[in-house]
Amino acid sequence: MAQALRFECQAGCTACCRQQGFVYLSEPDLRRIAEFLGVTPAAFEKQYVYRTRKRLRLRVPRASQCYFLGEAGCAIHPVKPAQCRIFPFWPELLESRREWRKTARYCPGMNQGPLVHIEVAREQAREMREAYPEMY
Ligand code: SF4
Ligand code: SF4
Repeated sequence: MAQALRFECQAGCTACCRQQGFVYLSEPDLRRIAEFLGVTPAAFEKQYVYRTRKRLRLRVPRASQCYFLGEAGCAIHPVKPAQCRIFPFWPELLESRREWRKTARYCPGMNQGPLVHIEVAREQAREMREAYPEMY
């Protein structure tokens, strides 16, 4: 990877929220989102979360990729899951130019805007690894 990358999320874009795939949650994500929504963690989990032995993920509605994606963007933006907040500085994207390029085909913010030093991006990737230790 180069020593710096460019990234700037584009106003009004929700392309990453509309990709196929699951949104995983950490336990702190679950508690933060429940608090933001004014419900108990148990009530939030019952309605929106699918828990396996090792992982938590948001349930996927029939008509879209995410229950929280609305006309105005993410309804839980201030407390969105680590995976959403850290994108596109996911370890797998930083470790592979090919994956970075492939992802940039749907994310118009990648390779745009100010330079982000590679160490800053790697710090984000570390946070991702810590949030989802079972995935890395
Ligand atoms: S696809 Fe990229 S530019 Fe669009 S909302 Fe997601 S991060 Fe921002
Ligand atoms: S939680 Fe928010 S940012 Fe994450 S996929 Fe859903 S709408 Fe997008």
